[in-house]
Amino acid sequence: MSMGPSPTDNRNDEDAGGVPGKARLLLHACCAPCSSSVVEQLQRQFDITILFDNANIHPRREYEQRRDELQRWCRDLDIALQVPAYEPALWLAAVHGLERQPEKGRRCTRCYRLRLERTAQQAARQGFDVFTTVLSISPHKRADKINRLGAAIARRYGLVFFAANFKKGGGFQRSLELSRRYGFYRQNYCGCTFSRQQSAARRAAREKAGSPTHG
Ligand code: SF4
Repeated sequence: MSMGPSPTDNRNDEDAGGVPGKARLLLHACCAPCSSSVVEQLQRQFDITILFDNANIHPRREYEQRRDELQRWCRDLDIALQVPAYEPALWLAAVHGLERQPEKGRRCTRCYRLRLERTAQQAARQGFDVFTTVLSISPHKRADKINRLGAAIARRYGLVFFAANFKKGGGFQRSLELSRRYGFYRQNYCGCTFSRQQSAARRAAREKAGSPTHG
């Protein structure tokens, strides 16, 4: 798998040394709303750097909107953020043949794997102790699957994967509260072109049935 170009990094040299007494954790994040309550849950234990590496997001303007929102929030809270180049062709190759799978199916497993693998590559390259992802905050994502993939990938890189189900214990509700507090843009589909089409179809069906619309 391609290692991809070196990520941009908003840390300065002093920050790069880490926080004494805390393990350094590389946190894969897909957007600001999903990151907010996960960072709140992890920051007492870890020195967190966020990695926004999401070749799945379509179209480019949506990718940029999610990235920019996360950048704004990380700057405001002084959280280190890394943003590698946007490489949608990598994602299309990873899910080839599974385009018509429903959400939570095999296409999503490949999508999780790609993003976890790239997070592990960066974590190993940069000497992080631990890595994880915010993805399990979503009620639409299976934490057991994400945790199994993360643990298997971690073994290959000699890293620790922090297994979690961030939506539990009110985690998802907290992400909604924090999103309101920070005025985050909240997308109405998971990220890829297929989830966008499926979400639009669900909204159209609800409108036809006369019920209110939500993503
Ligand atoms: S629905 Fe979400 S997790 Fe599944 S393939 Fe699309 S972007 Fe990835």
